[in-house]
Amino acid sequence: MTAIQTPQEVIPQLSLRRKVEELSGEKITACFQCEKCTNGCPVTFAMDIMPHQVLRLLGLGQIEEVLLSDTIWVCASCEMCATRCPNDISIAHIMDTMRQMSQREGPKASQKNVPIFHAAFLGSIRRFGRVHEAFMSVEFYLRSSGVSGLLQQAGTGLSMFNHGKIKIMPYRLLGNRQVRSIFKRTIKKG
Ligand code: SF4
Ligand code: SF4
Repeated sequence: MTAIQTPQEVIPQLSLRRKVEELSGEKITACFQCEKCTNGCPVTFAMDIMPHQVLRLLGLGQIEEVLLSDTIWVCASCEMCATRCPNDISIAHIMDTMRQMSQREGPKASQKNVPIFHAAFLGSIRRFGRVHEAFMSVEFYLRSSGVSGLLQQAGTGLSMFNHGKIKIMPYRLLGNRQVRSIFKRTIKKG
């Protein structure tokens, strides 16, 4: 016979919900759990909490559970959920907010290399206006596996360089200044 589980009591943390709403610019309380976001999301197979469940948890201010999930790092920001949502909620904005909160103050992500990759990717865009693969890879391997990890990848990097797949010198984007100002405004807002 299966034991009946006692439902867990959840105390809503409304100030935390309001904080996520303010940072993301999205109205979490508008969600009525229709699940259209989850049904259209292309990467739910790799998520441990479904997109509509993220909204439910955040509606109750349970941000710690969301910050600990793989889901916030798996979201590809494709905006499919926003297109399908009858209430115009962009879950991509919310996921992005949660990633930023996780990097600033949150508990450790379940997969430690994912936030490191995220930071290396954004660092490259902030410096050059677009991703510079060589720079980003060096930063990622150094931070995730140290000098020995970087040296292990040196052969692959050299081969890619020889085949013209990566460039040593970064490209400069004409709109680089605007990209930097976006980063500055975002950091101020955070
Ligand atoms: S589609 Fe919109 S309203 Fe429906 S569950 Fe997802 S976020 Fe909530
Ligand atoms: S933005 Fe994220 S949550 Fe929304 S459909 Fe795309 S991958 Fe799924």
